[in-house]
Amino acid sequence: MNRIRANLLARDGGACFYCRRPFTEDERPTFDHYIPRAIWRTWRQRNLVLACGPCNNAKADALPWTVAVLVLRNVRHGVEWQRACGLAA
Ligand SMILES: [Zn+2]
Repeated sequence: MNRIRANLLARDGGACFYCRRPFTEDERPTFDHYIPRAIWRTWRQRNLVLACGPCNNAKADALPWTVAVLVLRNVRHGVEWQRACGLAA
């Protein structure tokens, strides 16, 4: 796990992915699943970011925008869907 943390620190510049605040000695970065674990159970590095405590707590299992797009891409653009979006007459 330390190796993954080191890789992520190198990739993201040693700062919180969300607020860009640099991590300090006192504050160990926490792993955050960019796509919530409830949806995609993986420890793949591209689904992991490092977040500070407050950001990780604030995000919880909220869907990032990218996931919303992935989900919507698989929704049929039928009448029901258009009505739900206010597009159908
Ligand atoms: Zn943060």
